[in-house]
Amino acid sequence: MSAQAQMRALLDQLMGTARDGDETRQRVKYTDDRVCKSHLLDCCPHDILAGTRMDLGECTKIHDLALRADYEIASKEKDLFFELDAMEHLESFIAECDRRTELAKKRLAETQEEISAEVAVKAEKVHELNEEIGKLLAKAEQLGAEGNVEESQRILMEMERVKARKREAEDEYRNSMPASSFQQQKLRVCEVCSAYLGLHDNDRRLADHFGGKLHLGFILIREKLEQMRKTVASKQEKRNQERLRRREERDREERAGKRSRSRERRRRRSRSSSRDKRRSRSRDRHRHHRSRSGSRNKSHHGSSRDRERSRK
Ligand SMILES: [Zn+2]
Ligand SMILES: [Zn+2]
Repeated sequence: MSAQAQMRALLDQLMGTARDGDETRQRVKYTDDRVCKSHLLDCCPHDILAGTRMDLGECTKIHDLALRADYEIASKEKDLFFELDAMEHLESFIAECDRRTELAKKRLAETQEEISAEVAVKAEKVHELNEEIGKLLAKAEQLGAEGNVEESQRILMEMERVKARKREAEDEYRNSMPASSFQQQKLRVCEVCSAYLGLHDNDRRLADHFGGKLHLGFILIREKLEQMRKTVASKQEKRNQERLRRREERDREERAGKRSRSRERRRRRSRSSSRDKRRSRSRDRHRHHRSRSGSRNKSHHGSSRDRERSRK
């Protein structure tokens, strides 16, 4: 980044999009669906893993530090609840990574099985040749004891050929161990970043892994995800409580409204039965009109909600 670009980024970060009145930039607001909410909350994996072996390239959504500054200012005034989107984003990213880890572990186990099968075949060959040598030797000795020296010599020469084959098989068996299986069997998959680790990697290499940008980036993403989960849970809890409180408040108002309405009805009935009809009618009309615009509507909502509740 040039010094000028760095300065621009710094100013963006501090002041948001309103900094230079650039029309094209102001066209997209931080609330726009095209803007990466994880970027606004500083936890987009595309940012965190940039420059590592698992660099994801550009995010499909807009990243702009100025928009993040706008968001940070706005979120102080009002809860925008972007954590929910960011959480879902990170959740699917981490799920994908964990799936890759499982796959790598499975593949590793399979190769190890294949390799040990290969090694077992080679060991078996050595055993077979060994047995053959033993049998030939016994036969040669028997023939020698029987006085059949010529045949016995022939068997011993054959035995020497088998011995040579056995040495070859032994070499092959021994070489197959350190070359493939020995190394492969000592591989492990890192549970954090799904990279392969050698159990026999030296301290330096392991330190480079665990202190490397990729591994640390994954730790950061996982931590951010935990943080988002907690924030989302506590905000949802708060919202639920608020909803509950509002409902209780409404119920209380309704009950109060019903009481006053029934009182009103009673009053109205007694009045119409006695007093001057013309006067009461005009007052009734007035009252009727008022109740229609206000408490009548409320009572309708209330009764449907009451029904709903009794159904549960
Ligand atoms: Zn992003
Ligand atoms: Zn790792």
